[in-house]
Amino acid sequence: MTEPRESPRGISRQTFLRGAVGAVATSAVFGTNRAGAEPGASSGWGDLATAIKGPVILPDNGQFASAKAVFNTNFNDFAPAAIVTPTSAAEVQQAMAFAAAHNVKVAPRGGGHSYVGASTATGAMILDLRQLPGGVNYDAATGHVTVTPATGLYTIHQALAANGRGIPTGTCPTVGAAGHALGGGLGAQSRHAGLMCDQLVSATVVLPGGTGVVASANEHPDLFWALKGGGGGNFGVTTALTFATFPTSDVDAVGLHFPLESFAQVLLGWQNWLRTADRSSWALADTITDPGGAHCRILATCPAGSGDAAAAAVSKAVGLQPMSVEKHTFNYLDLVQYLAVNNLNPSPLGYVGGSDVFPSITPAAAQGIAAAFNAFPAGAGRPLVIMHALDGALATVGPGDTAFPWRRQSALVQWYVETSGSPAAAANWLSTAHQAVAPYSVGGYVNYLEANQPASRYFGTNLSRLAAVRQKYDPGRVMFSGLNF
Ligand SMILES: Cc1cc2nc3c(=O)[nH]c(=O)nc-3n(C[C@H](O)[C@H](O)[C@H](O)COP(=O)(O)OP(=O)(O)OC[C@H]3O[C@@H](n4cnc5c(N)ncnc54)[C@H](O)[C@@H]3O)c2cc1C
Repeated sequence: MTEPRESPRGISRQTFLRGAVGAVATSAVFGTNRAGAEPGASSGWGDLATAIKGPVILPDNGQFASAKAVFNTNFNDFAPAAIVTPTSAAEVQQAMAFAAAHNVKVAPRGGGHSYVGASTATGAMILDLRQLPGGVNYDAATGHVTVTPATGLYTIHQALAANGRGIPTGTCPTVGAAGHALGGGLGAQSRHAGLMCDQLVSATVVLPGGTGVVASANEHPDLFWALKGGGGGNFGVTTALTFATFPTSDVDAVGLHFPLESFAQVLLGWQNWLRTADRSSWALADTITDPGGAHCRILATCPAGSGDAAAAAVSKAVGLQPMSVEKHTFNYLDLVQYLAVNNLNPSPLGYVGGSDVFPSITPAAAQGIAAAFNAFPAGAGRPLVIMHALDGALATVGPGDTAFPWRRQSALVQWYVETSGSPAAAANWLSTAHQAVAPYSVGGYVNYLEANQPASRYFGTNLSRLAAVRQKYDPGRVMFSGLNF
């Protein structure tokens, strides 16, 4: 899908974000400065700083650079209006009331991993939620876990493992719970337990203006629907989330490594194996680029004791003997750790990423994905192509049952480049990759958000309903997410 976004074409992602947020925030908060008041010392911010215990860090503060830093270092030069760190849900409400009164855009920050730097957006008030008290609370009576929004995924797994429980999430240990679940939350348990958002039982949300509400199947069900995959930063600030969990057991993990030349064949074999595999099994297919060169891999997980059989079945489905096979047996938390270091680099770095969703991996689509990887320009960074399955429990939910629309598609590809120096070459390659698979792609995944893309790319037929929810809960478009709808 290539329809233009509302922003001007050709504009850089950084300029776009500055323009989108900065115009409102600068004219509103610093409007009096333009008329000659003291520069940078808006009395409004002073009022907020006095009203709440948490810090309000303005650009002239020595801690501003570290306070605005996020996971993707390519966004280090963004210039938010202020970093506000509430220490309670009540302070979130005060900050939201302040933002509405002063016409400032709000960008919440949890784990800070937004692909477009949305949680450090220029001109916005960043609500850094990492000091909200509460952490992780598991209720053995219900099997539900309640977390604060910035809680890292690994922290949740760690707390649940102590109770023999698990929750479906992606693999990066430091991604924040709210940012992740609000966009979906896709990972190694998705075939077994769906997306993280599929396990959401309720959420506490501070709406633009400062009113706090609870969203669940029975309370504000329209908002609840939108929170399940409608993307972070769109409707309000989520201050607590409660999820259902599942019991865990030991797992085998098998990695089968193949030559890069067979990547298209490996992708087809990966899909064919998934079609026959039990929901307790899962696999990704990816490329690995290390100093020795590039190759491709299928990384599968399955119940402990079934790893050898899974490896044989994967090899058969691909129709090739792998160059090498590695096999491990893990308890559940060790698996989480293993996946954390065997996928994307979990430490802050510069990266450019995006995605495409496929109804099916046809031979032509597989060739397109492989060709896109092969077209990566030398010197533009370290590219990774990662295939995520969209089947199993994830696909038992209807496309319109939650805001996440990709319930009847087979797979999505994540394009990801660890950039070195300028990210421009990586961004150009990303466009080339999209073009290479354009005939087979129906959209993208909002957690792998890209600048200058229309919201329809991420929400498909759910967009009109999502836009109506947004209009109801955030009619003044106070919230900033990097998406316009
Ligand atoms: C290394 C890496 C690995 C990843 N692996 C996976 C994976 O395996 N599977 C997967 O599905 N995704 C994965 N992701 C993507 C990740 O899920 C998204 O980037 C997610 O949005 C990050 O959430 P965050 O809280 O860390 O980031 P933030 O930048 O803090 O937030 C992301 C967005 O959500 C908004 N937001 C944050 N908190 C709140 C809140 N409390 N209320 C309302 N809005 C909020 C922000 O304003 C922003 O728009 C990965 C990302 C990275 C960088």
